[in-house]
Order: sequence, then structure tokens, then C-alpha cells
Amino acid sequence: MTGFQTSHLKCPKCGGDFDLVWLPGDYFHQAGIFYSIKCPVCKKRSQFDVYDTIVDPNTHHCEITLGPV
Ligand SMILES: [Zn+2]
Repeated sequence: MTGFQTSHLKCPKCGGDFDLVWLPGDYFHQAGIFYSIKCPVCKKRSQFDVYDTIVDPNTHHCEITLGPV
């Protein structure tokens, strides 16, 4: 998926791990932006830093993937 980024996120509420696939653009326009995401494990909404957590999707695999958003 050209242009997409994958971030590995860990829910601060339940400790669940998941990946978020997202497209940098108008919404994600600056480093350090926090994005409100509903955790797929516990369904609770938290703020995540999608830039600090970017991983290489070729070498990183997570059981749960959200997106693309
Ligand atoms: Zn959670």
C-alpha cells in the first residue's frame, strides 16, 4: 500500500497490542500528533502517538490490524 504507514500501538488501558495502518495527509500532518483510537481489544478510546510508533510492515506483524484509516 503506497504511502501508508504502519504503527504498532499498545493500549494503555488493557495492554493489548495492535497495528494501525494510516495514510499521512491532512489529518496526520505533523510529527508527534496524537490520534484518538478505539482499542480493538477492550473497545476503550485512548490517545496514541502514531509517529513515534511507526514500524516496518515488512518485518513487523501483529495479530490485530486496524485500518487503513
Ligand atoms: Zn485496550
